[in-house]
Amino acid sequence: MKKGNIKKAVKRIIVGLKMLFYPPVCPLCEETLAEGKTRFCENCKPLISYPEEPLCLKCGKETEDAEAEYCSDCRERPKSYIKGFPAMIYKEPLRRSIVKFKYQNKSSYADCFAGEIVRRHGREIMDISPDVLVPVPVHKKKLDKRGYNQAEVLAKSLGKYLDIPVDPGVLKRTENTIPQKLLSDEERQKNLEKAFISDKKQVQYKSVMLVDDIYTTGATVESCTRALKAVGVRDVYYTGICIGRDK
Ligand SMILES: [Zn+2]
Ligand SMILES: [Zn+2]
Repeated sequence: MKKGNIKKAVKRIIVGLKMLFYPPVCPLCEETLAEGKTRFCENCKPLISYPEEPLCLKCGKETEDAEAEYCSDCRERPKSYIKGFPAMIYKEPLRRSIVKFKYQNKSSYADCFAGEIVRRHGREIMDISPDVLVPVPVHKKKLDKRGYNQAEVLAKSLGKYLDIPVDPGVLKRTENTIPQKLLSDEERQKNLEKAFISDKKQVQYKSVMLVDDIYTTGATVESCTRALKAVGVRDVYYTGICIGRDK
């Protein structure tokens, strides 16, 4: 076995062990999970859907057309990141659970969400072995109001399992943009165009894995990718709790 492969194998074992020591709660019913479990409880498990083949080779979304390499969204608006790793499909009842995770101080959900990402994509992420996990930032005003950034909580949990450092200071949100849900797809990208910046002096990373909660059109991840590339980051990937379906 090559040295690099041994290192990866050891890392995988460490990841497995770490998951044993953090008993989290089920993000749907809030039942405390048995030790070593970082997934939805048995009752809630059937309520969760995972993207199934055929998948978009770029964002990881389920596509309608088995012949197409990319989903309609990635075809219409090509992305500058390399590949995306979403864990689940964005729909009820997961949607409500993420609202709580975001706005109602339910950061105890993070371990289960991160556990889902690890089970689905841990191996691929460790093979990529990014220099750092970078949570998508929220504007300071929002941060002051909520007290935490859910993407950062998620990234920290994921970093703990995967043994990858987390750097929340790489990206900054420059302006308090209009909530994306109020806008059309085109307006979304415009709204976000200058929403993220990165300070070149501080950024030494070559490979970055962005972490966010929900991926819809990818406008946010695209804006973050451009900001990172502008300061010399070569490879950008993203991972997140869930993704929408192809239109
Ligand atoms: Zn449950
Ligand atoms: Zn796509």
